Formats: sequence, C-alpha cells, structure tokens
Amino acid sequence: MNHSSGVGSAPKYKPYNRSSINRAPQWERIPLDLREAVDVVSHVLPFRTNQYVLDELIDWDRIPDDPIFRLNFPHQSMLDPDDYVTLRDLLRSGDKQQLAKQIHVVRSRMNPHPAGQQSHNVPKLDGETVPGIQHKYAETVLFFPSAGQTCHAYCTFCFRWPQFVGEEDLRFAARDAEGLVAYLKQHPEVTDVLITGGDPLIMRTATLERYLEPLLAPELSHVQNIRIGTKAVGYWPQRLVSDVDADDLLRLFERVVDAGKHLALMGHYNHPAELRPAIAQDALRRISATGAVVRMQSPVLRHINDDPAAWHELWTQGVKLGAIPYYMFVERDTGARSYFELPLVEAYDIFRTAYSSVSGLSRTVRGPSMSAFPGKVLIDGVPTIRGEKVFALQLLQARRGGLVRQPFYAKFDPEATWFDQLVPAFGESRFPFDEEPNANTASSSAGMPLDLVGV
Ligand SMILES: *Cc1c(COP(=O)(O)O)cnc(C)c1O
Ligand code: SF4
Repeated sequence: MNHSSGVGSAPKYKPYNRSSINRAPQWERIPLDLREAVDVVSHVLPFRTNQYVLDELIDWDRIPDDPIFRLNFPHQSMLDPDDYVTLRDLLRSGDKQQLAKQIHVVRSRMNPHPAGQQSHNVPKLDGETVPGIQHKYAETVLFFPSAGQTCHAYCTFCFRWPQFVGEEDLRFAARDAEGLVAYLKQHPEVTDVLITGGDPLIMRTATLERYLEPLLAPELSHVQNIRIGTKAVGYWPQRLVSDVDADDLLRLFERVVDAGKHLALMGHYNHPAELRPAIAQDALRRISATGAVVRMQSPVLRHINDDPAAWHELWTQGVKLGAIPYYMFVERDTGARSYFELPLVEAYDIFRTAYSSVSGLSRTVRGPSMSAFPGKVLIDGVPTIRGEKVFALQLLQARRGGLVRQPFYAKFDPEATWFDQLVPAFGESRFPFDEEPNANTASSSAGMPLDLVGV
C-alpha cells in the first residue's frame, strides 16, 4: 500500500474527483450502494482527494466509518432524503437540464455565503474595491491569490465550497500583490497578512513567490506576520518533501524569515491520522528547520473528530512534531452542516475533556469558536448563574475590537448548534454587539459595515 509515498521516491500528485475516482485502485473496495451515493451527492457537493490520502490516511478495513473516508467522500445523508431521491432519479433518467436546475436549487438552500463573507469585509482603496482582499479584524488582512483558489480537498463543511462548485464569482481573487501592497501601505494598523484560498500551496513555488516577495518590502515593516492557510501538510506532505519545487519552497520560507517576518503555516488538520505517516512528520521537521512555524486548526465535526481522544492525539502529537494547537472551530452554518454539526454543548464538552487531558504546551488551543458576523465567538462554559443555566461566551475577535474578551451570556439551549440560535440570557434584549434600538443611524457611516469605516 505504499506506492505513492516514501521519502526520496518523488511520487507524482494524483488527484481524483467524481469523474476520475473510478480509476483509483481503492474504488472497487467501496460497496456499490455507497458508490452510487458518492456519485449522486457529489453533483451537489463535489469532492477532491488524492492517491496519498487513499493509500496512507484511510483505513479501508474500516470504511465507511473511517474518519478520513467520511471526510473525503460525500455521503448520502449529507442531503435531505427527498433531495437525494429526486437527484438520484434525475441522474438515472439522464435529464441533464432538469438535473442542473435541481442541483442549483439544492445548493442555494445550503447557505453558500455565511457571515457576510462577500458583502461586508471587502475594503476600498481610493474609492475602488481592492480585488482579493478581505479585512474584517483590524490587525489582519486576508489575501486570496487567484492562482490558489482550489484546494487539496473540497471539504463540504467549508465555507469555501461555493467556489469549488463554480457558483461563486471568483473574479474577487487577485492576480498579483499590487493592490494588496498599496492597501497595506495605507493601513499601518495591519500586522498580519493571511494568504488563503483555496490553498496557496497548490501554487507552484515560483507563483507563490510572486505574491510573497512584495510583502518583504521595507515600506511594509508593519506587516510582522505572514500566514499561509494550507491543507498540504496533511494531505500532500510531498509538497514540502519531494515535489520538484519542494526545496525551493523551503528556501522561500527561509527568505521570508530572514527578512524579519514571522511565517506561520496555518495547517488544516481534521484528524490525528494526518500526523501519523513518516512523510507527514518529515514535512513538519523540514518546515520547522526553515524557521517557519506550523499552527493547527480544525472544526469539530460529527463522524470525524467528535471524540476527545482524537483531539488529545492531534494536539500532543502536534506539539511533539512542532505544530502548535491554535483553534478548534464549530462547524459553520454552510454546506453539509446537518451531517457534521453537533450541539454547542457537546462541542464544548469535547473541547474541555481533551483540553484537560493535555499539558500546558497544548493549551495554546482556543475553542470551540464560531466565526459569526460579530466575530469569533468562543464558548467558554455552561455555568448556572443565579439559578439560570447559560452559555458563557466571549469574542476572541470582534468587528468592534473593544468587545474582545468581554464575557457575555446566552440562554442555555441543549440543541443549539450555531450562534444565530442563541438569545441573550438574564432577560436582556440584546448582545453587546447588537445595535442599540435608538442608536443614531443618521451618521455618515449609516448602513456601512463597521470594518469598512475603520471602527
Ligand atoms: C479568523 C480570522 C482572522 C484571523 O484571526 P486570528 O484570531 O488572528 O487568527 C482574520 N480574518 C477573518 C475574517 C477571520 O475569520
Ligand atoms: S480550505 Fe481547508 S477546510 Fe476548506 S476545503 Fe480546503 S482543506 Fe477543507
């Protein structure tokens, strides 16, 4: 089972999607009814995987319950049962026009643009929208290079899924770093640039370099930290080890570090299986040797990692290998959420059980956290205060920076799975970030998202 990995053998990246997966040697091991479900559901929620994931990360004796199998292959219950039957029958009938229509209908019910992603965080420079940038929290700008808008996986819980299905307008991505640099020059409060996608490490090193180099200019000395969000270390560690331009990539990391920046790879790790192969560990060692630092983040997901033991292994192994535990997210209100979501109280219990089982070196992790419109909302406990059971909450990041880390409370709800289902506790009428009912809305910034007016 080792034909695609191993240090020094320079295996070729071999991705699979719906139309090519039947060429994978493992396809035959999937029972027929599951294969049909993969085909039907992936018309709505496409998938992408690769030979390394199939060979090294999935335990085929444990399918369909193997967590990496669940993560990579669409599953029947990701769709509403009626939608599933309708789509399956349309597929069988061969009515392509009707099928395309129905796919669109089902997708648009899946909240493709959560938390004002497209409309509220897009900044302007001299009155013009700057392509490829989002700026929500004062100190951090997100940057979307156009060449990095695909990913190693198309996780169906990810808010990026509309861009993978081609329903999102990708013209927002940036062809070069020019607009970003101009914007940063005018924003000395920005200390962090987070290069994201998709997955920027999908790009060849030479392409990534064209985006990174301009950030090292002396005029941008206020940009202290450069982050790259990536799944490559988990799903294609060869990118850091044996790909033709792997060594060039590491030299590029060194140049960023030598220029005085902190370089952080924000590694998407959903399960400790991603840390187990020798080559995955080798990739982490090679990154550490450049002076860059890997941090790990993932949502907590039913069927995948809804078990404190998984997080215990992920965090402790991560620390040992040089990857710092960073965020545990709550699965977002988009895509196949009903398949992956768990009640907030359960997410909190998993976090606390895992957190209490590790040493302080792993307790750099924060969570469970919801990326919602007002900011990153941390569930900090389920206390009973003056006879009322509540969720204790805090904003780890806030559109209005002054609210960071100020405790607030929501009524306890054992079934709530997302922030929008919560209501203020203690009979209060609003959360701290909600508009006051009589707020003066006649100011010049009326109707403007706060991050656009620099508040
Ligand atoms: C999470 C996030 C960031 C980064 O926040 P950190 O807490 O600094 O990691 C920046 N922008 C957006 C929109 C985010 O969701
Ligand atoms: S960005 Fe991360 S979570 Fe989203 S599809 Fe890619 S690997 Fe999955």
